[in-house]
Amino acid sequence: MNEIVLASRNPNKIQELKELLSIPDVRVLSTNDFPDLEEVEEDAVTLEGNALKKAKYVAMVTGLPSLADDTGLEVTALNGAPGVYSARYSGEHASYEDNVEKLLSEMSKTNERNAQFRTVVAFIEADKQWIFEGICTGKISRFRKGAGGFGYDPIFIPDGFDMSFAEMDSEQKNSISHRGLAMKKAVAFLQEWV
Ligand code: IMP
Repeated sequence: MNEIVLASRNPNKIQELKELLSIPDVRVLSTNDFPDLEEVEEDAVTLEGNALKKAKYVAMVTGLPSLADDTGLEVTALNGAPGVYSARYSGEHASYEDNVEKLLSEMSKTNERNAQFRTVVAFIEADKQWIFEGICTGKISRFRKGAGGFGYDPIFIPDGFDMSFAEMDSEQKNSISHRGLAMKKAVAFLQEWV
C-alpha cells in the first residue's frame, strides 16, 4: 500500500481532497496524523512557492511522498488580488466572513465582476517535484448565496451556473472547481505513479 501525506490541517480541505484522491492502493494521510509536524508559514509570494514549501517540509519530516495545494481567488477588478493573500485578505487572523465582507466592499462600486480561483498542487517524492494547476473562472456576486462550502464560496458564481459554490454539494463543486481540476491532473499522474 502506497502512502501519501496531504500537507494540510484544514478539515474542509482534507475532506475534499480525500474524496478526490480515492485511488486504489493509495492510503491518504494528512498532517493531522503526524503530531510532530510544525506549522509551515505560507510566506511565499506565489501559489507555486507556498505549495512547494508545504509539500517539501512534510515530505522531508515524514519521509513519505507529500501533496500540498495552495489556492487564491484572483479578481480582475482588483488586478489579481487577493490572490496568494486570499486567506488573510482582511488581516492576519481574518475569518472567512471578514474576507468576504472586505471583498464585497472593495467591489461595491464596480461592475467588472470577473474572477478566477486558481489552485496549484505540488507533489514531492524524495528529490523530485511536480506541479499541477487548476483554474475555475466565474463572477463575484453582489450578495452572499448559499450556506455550504467555505471561504469565498457564497459570493463566487462559476461560469455557466446561476448558483454560487456555496449552493452546490461537494460532488458538484469538485467536478468543476479549481481544486477539483488541479487534483484531477494530479490523480491522473498518481495513477501511473503507484
Ligand atoms: P488555501 O490555499 O486552500 O488555504 O486557500 C487560501 C484561501 O483561499 C482560503 O482561506 C479561502 O479563503 C480561499 N479558498 C481556497 N479555496 C477555496 C474554495 O474552494 N472556495 C472558496 N474559497 C476558497
